[in-house]
Amino acid sequence: MKKAAIISVGNELINGSCYDSNSEWLKEKLIDLNFELSLSMKLPDEHWALAEALDYASRFSDICIITGGLGPTKDDITRDALSVWTGRPLVYKDSLFAHIESYFQKRRRRMSEINSVQAYIPEGSQPLLNNNGTAPGIKISSGSFAVYSLPGVPSEMKAMFEQHIAPEISGQAFADRRVLKVFGLGESSVAELLGDMMDRGANPEINCTVKEYVITLSFLARAGSKEAEDLLSNSVDKAKSLLGEYVYADEDISLPEAAVRRLLDAGKTVTTAESCTGGLIAKLLTDVPGSSGCFQIGWVSYSNEAKSERLGVCPDTLKQYGAVSEQTVREMAENALKISAADFSVSVSGVAGPSGGTEQKPVGTVYICVASKEKCVVRKLFYPGGRKGCRLRAALTGIDVLRR
Ligand code: ATP
Ligand code: MG
Repeated sequence: MKKAAIISVGNELINGSCYDSNSEWLKEKLIDLNFELSLSMKLPDEHWALAEALDYASRFSDICIITGGLGPTKDDITRDALSVWTGRPLVYKDSLFAHIESYFQKRRRRMSEINSVQAYIPEGSQPLLNNNGTAPGIKISSGSFAVYSLPGVPSEMKAMFEQHIAPEISGQAFADRRVLKVFGLGESSVAELLGDMMDRGANPEINCTVKEYVITLSFLARAGSKEAEDLLSNSVDKAKSLLGEYVYADEDISLPEAAVRRLLDAGKTVTTAESCTGGLIAKLLTDVPGSSGCFQIGWVSYSNEAKSERLGVCPDTLKQYGAVSEQTVREMAENALKISAADFSVSVSGVAGPSGGTEQKPVGTVYICVASKEKCVVRKLFYPGGRKGCRLRAALTGIDVLRR
């Protein structure tokens, strides 16, 4: 598998005044292009730092993408550092100067004297034109190690990556990565179930990352194309059977996306009746393009009055069992199903906190119900640890039960 390094340059990244979104974005792109990431680092605006980092990255990477430090001011050191690192002097390019000049002309702005430094690139390197700003990018090779230097401004960087780099590097690396998306299990349970499949040095190697309660398992094979494909298929199949229903997709999609696809494929519709999640389930489902094919209406019935007057929950149920109860979510789901004429409904009611908990129903207690004409599944959950997290987990769990 080919390896890529990402280097972000800028004091503002180190001191925390600017979030390094460039490397996050590039990471996703490179993984999609089947590269394995060898390293990602942030460096200050110092020549020595970039030269050292390039030496280091070149030892175990095929390509390196640098962002930042290509501007015209004295704190922009990338151009000089590339020249020092390769030992090649900066040379002036008429064509680059003309491109920068035309950038200003098109915007009816005067070009500052200092912008002319951006027409210099190390001898033997290749300029990468920037149509959205003044800083041209630079491609420079040292043996088989290719370095691409892009400006730091995210919009310029992204456009240039898509225009100059993606077409050049796509197809360089084997398609030897697969993913499984998992919801409802913690990392340690996944590790326990997969056992020695997750050993370091195993082939394929499995990496586990968690983001907003969803686990992504990345399977990376080290082998030539055909052999890698077989290794991956076997390993992915084995993991799927070990993790069972907790696997919601074998491609990089979100849980709501998986649920919406499933509904659309089956030609079914869903409605929602939400209390503690305040519409989050409906929001997550309708974030998915094409969801209008399976979602027409949902309710946010936050108060007890709304639950009984708008959704027809029996006042006695609310009185006897409370809003956060199996009986209430059941009635919410069944009534929403009837009123909307959808095929499925998801309801949720809980104590998201921070206040409002009781001994019997502490903060974090949530009931969800997924109903259809045939059956009604109720789950009692306990998601303490903060209002935001509780609501998101409850919403995702509702969607997960729906998907199954
Ligand atoms: P120019 O100076 O011509 O705009 P440059 O290549 O020198 O281009 P920088 O000066 O390093 O770019 O960065 C310009 C701005 O882009 C920064 O002030 C910051 O707002 C943003 N930026 C730089 N690097 C990153 C990064 N890694 N992630 C997100 N934003 C970034
Ligand atoms: Mg700059």
